[in-house]
Amino acid sequence: MALRLSDVKRKARDLGFNLCGITPARPSPTLAAYLRWIERGMQGAMGYMARPDRVKRRQDLREIMPGAKTLILVGLDYYARYAAEETLHDPSRGRIAAYAWGLDYHRVLKLRLETFAEWLAETSGGAPAQKVYVDTGAILERSHAQQAGLGFIGKNTMLIHPRQGSYFFLGEILTSLEFDDYDSPHRESMCGTCTRCLAACPTDAFPEPFVLDARRCISYHTIENQGWIDRELRPDFGNWIFGCDICMDVCPFQRFAEETDEVAFLPLDLDRVAPRLTDILMSNEASFRAMFRRTPVERVRRERIVRNACIAAGNWRNEQAIPHLIQLLYDASALVRGHAAWALWRTMALDSSKLLSDLHRREDDARVRGEVEALLG
Ligand code: SF4
Ligand code: SF4
Repeated sequence: MALRLSDVKRKARDLGFNLCGITPARPSPTLAAYLRWIERGMQGAMGYMARPDRVKRRQDLREIMPGAKTLILVGLDYYARYAAEETLHDPSRGRIAAYAWGLDYHRVLKLRLETFAEWLAETSGGAPAQKVYVDTGAILERSHAQQAGLGFIGKNTMLIHPRQGSYFFLGEILTSLEFDDYDSPHRESMCGTCTRCLAACPTDAFPEPFVLDARRCISYHTIENQGWIDRELRPDFGNWIFGCDICMDVCPFQRFAEETDEVAFLPLDLDRVAPRLTDILMSNEASFRAMFRRTPVERVRRERIVRNACIAAGNWRNEQAIPHLIQLLYDASALVRGHAAWALWRTMALDSSKLLSDLHRREDDARVRGEVEALLG
């Protein structure tokens, strides 16, 4: 049976997806921009973005799946209005990006996309080759989504639906099924003269509109960067400990975003939105897992979240954090010890000299010693 676009979209709606667009499996129109971006090293330590085999796949979807004819993209809203807005800005709490307030979206989307792919195979009556992706494929999904009519790419590099904003997850099915008809691409940009996102970014991560230098982005550092965070950037992180929503929040199209119907994406409690920094600073592996079980934060693991919480504590500069930071100078992770030293210096200034000199004396790790030398020097 020949599948019609309208049938596929109805099924997507039945499965709870808020958006669905269908586009031929052609190379992405933003390929040249992506190649320039990796040439400039703006992917930072996300080595997978520049790996030659992955670059080849991004250039041509048939490298991922020979015989691929169509890419079906879906969007699922996750926007949840948080009533106590002031809590998000409370410097004694570590702020988590809205997409991570609920359960891990990978599972939620993947299960539904698999059901969708099964339905496609059954309804088409054939045995199409199909692959399902949520974040995992080497696919320039935002640009394909623009081609499938789901929205435009803003100067903040996010996909924006003109009547729903950009708080939605994307997932896709690459299939060998072919359709008689496809969705038309969305207008390329609707930003006009607006530059709100560029001006609002606290770390100046946009060297120019539509280009994001991940090496300066809070979201990249707090989630993807597994190592040390530049001292120069840390004061601008504010209280973000996992991701950053600023360049999406300030976007005027965001006012159209509606609260998600997906219970899975609603925060269970305040600790999933903005946990107390002191709770994170004193967490061990077990209490960390209990705090963030089955959320995207759990994937990043304790070491990096405690590192991020040290930065937020260094920006909070409150004596309540001091005993916990001193304790962290003895943490098993050098990354944590080094960032705790920075936070102590920011909180206590010269009063931390003795603590930091003692750390320097007993420390084996060259990075931690270097951090202390830079602070005391
Ligand atoms: Fe800047 Fe935050 Fe947007 Fe990154 S996520 S570009 S730090 S505003
Ligand atoms: Fe475009 Fe303005 Fe939104 Fe930035 S804030 S993405 S410039 S509309």
